[in-house]
Amino acid sequence: MTESEVLGSRARTKIVATIGPACQDRAILEKIVLAGVDICRLNMAHGSRSVHEQFVATIREVEQAVGRPLGILVDLAGPKIRLGQLTEDPLPCEVDTELTFVRGEQVEPGQLTCNYTRLIDELKVDDRVLMADGTIEMVVLERSDEHARCRVLQGGLLRSRQGINLPGVELSAPTLSDVDRDNAIWAASVGADFVSLSFVRKPDDMVELRQLLDQYDSNALTIAKIEKPKALENLTEIVKVSDGIMVARGDLGVEIDVATMPVAQKQIIDACSIWSKPVIVATQMLDSMQRSSRPTRAEATDVANAILDGTDACMLSGETAIGDYPVESVAMMNRIMKSTEQMCMSGREQLQGNQDEQVNPVASAVVRGAGRIADEIHARMVVVVTKSGATALTKAKQRDFIPTVAVSDCQRTLRQMCLYWGIHPLPGAPEDFDQQLVSFISRWGQEQGQLQPGDRVVLVGGTGVKDEVHNLVLIHQVHE
Ligand code: PGA
Ligand code: MN
Repeated sequence: MTESEVLGSRARTKIVATIGPACQDRAILEKIVLAGVDICRLNMAHGSRSVHEQFVATIREVEQAVGRPLGILVDLAGPKIRLGQLTEDPLPCEVDTELTFVRGEQVEPGQLTCNYTRLIDELKVDDRVLMADGTIEMVVLERSDEHARCRVLQGGLLRSRQGINLPGVELSAPTLSDVDRDNAIWAASVGADFVSLSFVRKPDDMVELRQLLDQYDSNALTIAKIEKPKALENLTEIVKVSDGIMVARGDLGVEIDVATMPVAQKQIIDACSIWSKPVIVATQMLDSMQRSSRPTRAEATDVANAILDGTDACMLSGETAIGDYPVESVAMMNRIMKSTEQMCMSGREQLQGNQDEQVNPVASAVVRGAGRIADEIHARMVVVVTKSGATALTKAKQRDFIPTVAVSDCQRTLRQMCLYWGIHPLPGAPEDFDQQLVSFISRWGQEQGQLQPGDRVVLVGGTGVKDEVHNLVLIHQVHE
């Protein structure tokens, strides 16, 4: 497949795919990338350092082979609490049975352990304990220094090492644990483009991650995973100090009432529009495609609705990491995205009233103006010259459908723009805003079959008086 086919066949909405045994093979990874993956997610909750290192090497090889930037997202597990080994696995839990958390690792029937040593100290009578993805609900009946006795309110099948969610419990565990810090330093060392943090509760969690990355000379964008009620309470402040956000519905849907989660998703996405931050909707988007070559109607609708909500990217987890149909899942997601984008193109709403104070008002006005000019003169393409990617992000948040190419002299920026809606990062272009760039784009566009003589291109850049201000719009007509 050529790059031009890629440009033409790919959705504006970006696809994040979790890497795992089902796609770690170089040939399959290349296939899922060609099917539409923009960003590869490495989940630090699973797999060893050497496995992750191999993933990075393979991703960079595939990036070379397909000739377009690929982002790498390192996902830190945060304070995820997991059950220890059960005496009986799986263990059917019936309503009204009693299970007791005990210290240490030795368990007898009816006892549970977990990887969080302070759990027994921090639980209180009447606290709710959720397990098995929220299917099993328990309430704390009694606690002492050595145990916490719970009764099952809602039954289900329990397995060893499953996650435990404690929605209303204030845990003292730091969001960034020693293991997370070690993984973040590793992410910096392998040049990760994004680092996400799970179970964020307050803005300082993200500030701490940023400081750690800065300390190790990493410019990776920080992504806050919103999956705790506390994070929803502090949403605006968290959005402001993060570079991007993930709607982490897997845990969010357990930590808050699942019935309120769809509206929470919309509120999170709206906050990201206001503050010009890219946002990823994650988990169970095409869940049944782990075992089936077709998604359910509800799943197809979910992907479409996320786009209508205004997301920049959708994520695949088990579908690409451990499923039977990794390539089909990506292709299907891309197809749903494309048709959704096509159908809402006519009735699209421009995101007016963008209130982000962090975006330079001159750049923002110039980008908005460029989009309007491009629309009015039926330009075939908008080209944005960008150092940090901020201007490309402003353009992405406008959600217009004019194909937009972003050029940058910074490889990191090119890879990070893999997350920005509708932005096609183009490496190798001259970075100065002059005739050389115009000729380069003109030639490249024609080679790719994207431009023909007579077509108009709108270029956005700056006079270079001050690096980061975009104050120029240039309209070029491709020569006969
Ligand atoms: P996880 O995060 O897959 O690391 O749990 C995503 C989510 O909770 O949705
Ligand atoms: Mn999670």
